[in-house]
Amino acid sequence: MKKQTTPFNHFIQNSAMLETLTRLGYQNMTPIQEASLPFILEGRDIVAKAKTGSGKTLAFGLPLLLGLHVKQMRIQSVVLCPTRELAEQVSSELRKVATFTHNIKIVTLCGGTRFVPQCISLEHGAHIVVGTPGRILQHLQEKTIDFSHIKTLVLDEADRMLDMGFYEDIEKIINKMPKERQTLLFSATFPKEIEQMCQEVQKEALHVSLEEEEKHAPLAIEQSVLRVDEPEKEKALKALLLSTVPTSVIIFCKTKVGVAKLQAYLYDEGFDALCLHGDLEQIARDENLLLFANGSAQILVATDLASRGLDIKDVEMVINYDLPQTMEIYTHRIGRTGRMGKEGRAISFVTQSEEGFLNELKREGFAFTCKELGTLSPLHVNPKRASFITLCIDGGKKQKVRAGDILGVLTKDIGLDGSLIGKIDILEKYAYVAITREHADKAFDGLCATTIKNRRFKIWKLG
Ligand code: ADP
Ligand code: MG
Repeated sequence: MKKQTTPFNHFIQNSAMLETLTRLGYQNMTPIQEASLPFILEGRDIVAKAKTGSGKTLAFGLPLLLGLHVKQMRIQSVVLCPTRELAEQVSSELRKVATFTHNIKIVTLCGGTRFVPQCISLEHGAHIVVGTPGRILQHLQEKTIDFSHIKTLVLDEADRMLDMGFYEDIEKIINKMPKERQTLLFSATFPKEIEQMCQEVQKEALHVSLEEEEKHAPLAIEQSVLRVDEPEKEKALKALLLSTVPTSVIIFCKTKVGVAKLQAYLYDEGFDALCLHGDLEQIARDENLLLFANGSAQILVATDLASRGLDIKDVEMVINYDLPQTMEIYTHRIGRTGRMGKEGRAISFVTQSEEGFLNELKREGFAFTCKELGTLSPLHVNPKRASFITLCIDGGKKQKVRAGDILGVLTKDIGLDGSLIGKIDILEKYAYVAITREHADKAFDGLCATTIKNRRFKIWKLG
């Protein structure tokens, strides 16, 4: 029987926070939130382990926000993340909830963006810093941030940070913090190396693990394998995509070169496929992720850069075009689908040389059904195009462009029905709006011919 979930007011009294959570549609705690929140609110160090997509960000985020002294404009909390994408995601989730009170300032500090603007932003002060270890260390060394008043340190996806070789940077960062602090370690996997780290950076940490419960809970992800020979992989993928017609699918490859090659193949075959890997410029990484998340591309071909923590709504299917090397990575990859109790599918291509690893996964308790290449019957001859097209506007937060302004122009001035307008993302200098494919031209022409907030902006059509 499914366990009854508990509302947030069980542990949180702050009524403004409770109202904000309700407004965001968060009524009940997820199991990891329920298991860890009371201890974190008490100020204990914890090590929390729970599967991906289980709501770990708010588990540490709520206590962190509730514990701030907003009037003291100094850095009180730090969240370290392995990748920039993840840091952005944590920041944005925290910002949503931070609206429960006025004037909380959260700064994101990651590599891949210019250093100086970050310094300028820091001059106005901040309460919370979220970022990647390398860049944060750089700021500490340049003395553009001061960690001597840190009350809480969060290591999100801690094992991944170790894998990426951030251990020394993290040590150096921690040395700049007071010893009296709360340290929270979060991850979906917990290899041995982490234990040593916990010993060093935490005090009498409480271990919160939902692993046992999760093992017995039926995973909402249907896993299958498709046996293929290396040379027929591309064709097999095409057949698979034409027969399953997923509206959003992440395809994982082993290498950056593999990702680029497969994306080019799919694109040539007429699929709306984008890619994500570490050699792309940051702006392209952000934009591809955004276009995939707003429905302007159904396919994201990616390296394991995308396997951790990224929370993209409604990913229907994950395809392991190449099997990963470890069980941890496998868990993370398939965790991109079936999030928050939704159903998901994960299909792994298995070549002869990968049989061994497949058997290992089976021994660990993963259960697979088998798909036969010959039985895949295409539902479509040609790929179905993505439902949305994105228009990019060359004005963002800096120009004080708001989602409401764009929505207003599109509905009132251009006469589009609200239901034809998808996600609107406002970034620093650009805004992106998804419009249903059939109406994208009308929206584009309309936006080109009119002004937003009495200003004329350049508009581009993407995808
Ligand atoms: P994890 O870090 O465990 O991988 P996230 O913190 O990214 O998971 O959360 C996954 C998704 O669940 C996010 O979209 C988040 O907004 C949503 N979420 C978090 N807590 C709740 C809740 N209590 N009720 C409903 N949705 C939630
Ligand atoms: Mg997370």
